[in-house]
Amino acid sequence: MDFIPVCEPLLNGNELAYVTDCINTGWISSSGKYVKAFEEQFAAYCQVKYGVAVCNGTVAVHLALIAAGIGPGDEVIIPNFTMIASAFAVCYTGAKPVFVDAEPESWNIDVTKIEEKITARTKAIMPVSIFGHPCNMEAIWSLAKKYNLVVVEDAAESHGAEYKGHRTGSLAAITAFSFFANKNLTTGEGGMVVTADEELYKKALYYKNLCFPLDSPRIYLHKHIGYNYRMSNIHAAIGLAQVEKADEYREMRIKNGELYQQFLTTIPGISVQRTNPDVVNVHWMNGLVVNSEIYGRSRSELIAYLRENNIDTRLFFTGMNRQLSLINYGCNPSGNYSITDWLSENGFYLPSGSNLTRDKIEFICELIDNFKR
Ligand SMILES: *Cc1c(COP(=O)(O)O)cnc(C)c1O
Repeated sequence: MDFIPVCEPLLNGNELAYVTDCINTGWISSSGKYVKAFEEQFAAYCQVKYGVAVCNGTVAVHLALIAAGIGPGDEVIIPNFTMIASAFAVCYTGAKPVFVDAEPESWNIDVTKIEEKITARTKAIMPVSIFGHPCNMEAIWSLAKKYNLVVVEDAAESHGAEYKGHRTGSLAAITAFSFFANKNLTTGEGGMVVTADEELYKKALYYKNLCFPLDSPRIYLHKHIGYNYRMSNIHAAIGLAQVEKADEYREMRIKNGELYQQFLTTIPGISVQRTNPDVVNVHWMNGLVVNSEIYGRSRSELIAYLRENNIDTRLFFTGMNRQLSLINYGCNPSGNYSITDWLSENGFYLPSGSNLTRDKIEFICELIDNFKR
């Protein structure tokens, strides 16, 4: 079998035609029709009205938090098991990320452990749909209501995922997406903030572009400190072509993820992310957790064996409570994060690109099955 990477971008639509159009017409900066079209169509895909395209997912999370009014002195509740950009984006605002351990089946933030972390300084809860699986949003909404908190979602891993029939992007006041090369939809580097709220939309637009006033003439006076988080028309051209294929790619991800789940759950000592019945999991990454006592081999032995067989893998994230950067910034690392530790010590992910075939998935799962002792 040829080398199977953890992820390959799939660019088989109008990408080249649209990028060529940008070059031919000279519209290569952030002005141009593709930015607007991409924003409109991706927002519609998320079942909301407004989209603000930006240059990567990390700044999308930052911009969403800024628009939601998060700043110095505030605390933002985030999952302890997430990608580091979720936490860094909170730090950029001057607020402090507060960690909540994961839940052992969906691997998402454990909603039963959020309330004990809420203080007088808490301003927001920021769920992350880990690996494409939306969180228990009803529990999060009810806490947000009870304590008057804003819900900002980092949906960088869950384009098109659904919770009780509603897509990510419509599950929070404001939501951030990434279009990095390994995400379910990609522009190479890119991101977007989406919202149904006109006021949050205007704030995001304003802060994204150096706080130029939105509705008065440019006299080069700036009332606030803004950012240049603009996305180029070239990247948006790729994004528009991707959105046109979004339903097709989404089905491929779901089908592949379900195949992996089906095969891997039959192997003793291997566990996978369990999909709750009320969600559509879009399987950004298909991970597994090794119980070496039952499986008979360690995680590193299995990874080495897969590598010998040309199968690429990646380790799971390390918990936020273990990040020196965040501890030095002033985050509180103490507490029980045993589920995160279990995931990060025993978990890794398998090739998960949209264009993976059934043959390849079967081959990978057979290798894992044959290697057990
Ligand atoms: C990928 C990712 C990001 C960051 O996106 P970039 O485009 O790489 O900056 C943020 N949060 C989560 C949960 C991610 O998976």
